[in-house]
Amino acid sequence: MPKSNAPSRRRSFHAANVAVIGLGRFGTSLALELVNGGHQVLGIDSDEKVVQSLAGQLTHVVAADTTDEETLKELGLADLDCAVVAIGADLEASILTTSLLLQLGVKQLWAKANSAAHGKILNQLGAHHVIFPEYEMGRRVAHMVTGESLDYVQIDEDFVMVKVICPQSFDGQTLAELKIRSNYEVTVVAVNHGNGLYEPAFPETELKVGDLLVVAGRKQPLDEFVQLQ
Ligand code: ATP
Repeated sequence: MPKSNAPSRRRSFHAANVAVIGLGRFGTSLALELVNGGHQVLGIDSDEKVVQSLAGQLTHVVAADTTDEETLKELGLADLDCAVVAIGADLEASILTTSLLLQLGVKQLWAKANSAAHGKILNQLGAHHVIFPEYEMGRRVAHMVTGESLDYVQIDEDFVMVKVICPQSFDGQTLAELKIRSNYEVTVVAVNHGNGLYEPAFPETELKVGDLLVVAGRKQPLDEFVQLQ
C-alpha cells in the first residue's frame, strides 16, 4: 500500500486515569476494556473476594467502602480524570458515593442507574453522565431479535447506526448507481464482502448478495431501509 504523505490527523493518545467503583458485571467489563485500551484503572469494591479476583488485571485494585468520606479522600480520587460509579442494586451506596465524589470535585463523574428514579436522583445530585445499561441494551437487542438488523447503535435520539445484510435487490450495483443518499436518505459507511473485513464505502463500491453493510442515518429513513429485501 502506498505511503500517504498526508499529515497525521490522529489525536495524540492520552492514557486516562479512571476510577471504577463497584466491580460487578458492568464495572468489571468497563474496567477491563479501559485497561485493554491502555488506560490506568483503579478498581474499588467493598467485597474483598471481588478485588482479589481482579488483582493483576487492573492497574490498581482496592477493597474499600466508598460511602466513607475519609476513604475516598485517602484514595486521592479527586485527582483522577474521571470516576465511574458502577454500583447499581445498592441504591444508598450508589447515591452516597456519587454525592461524596462530586463534593470532592471529581472532574467527570459517570454513574450507572438501575431505574428511571435512580437516574433522576443521580442527575439531581449533579452526576455529569448518567447511564442506563440494561435499558439501553434492551432497546438495542430489540432491533436484533426481530432480525431487522444484526446490530443497532443509537448515536443520538434521532440518529442511528446499524449493521444489516445487503438487500437482494441491490446485487451487482454500486452505491452511486443505487443513489443511496438521495433515494433512501441514509449513508452506507462500510461494507464487508464476506471476508470478515469492513472496508470504507465509496460511490464505486459494488454490492453483492451476502455483503454486510454498516449504515447510518436518521431513525425513520433507516428503519425503512432495514426493511428492504
Ligand atoms: P452488575 O449488574 O454490574 O453486576 P449491580 O447493578 O447488581 O451490578 P451492585 O450489586 O449493587 O450492582 O454493585 C456492584 C458492585 O458494587 C458489587 O461488586 C458490590 O460489592 C460493589 N459495592 C456495593 N456497595 C459498595 C460500596 N459501598 N463500596 C464499594 N463497593 C460497593
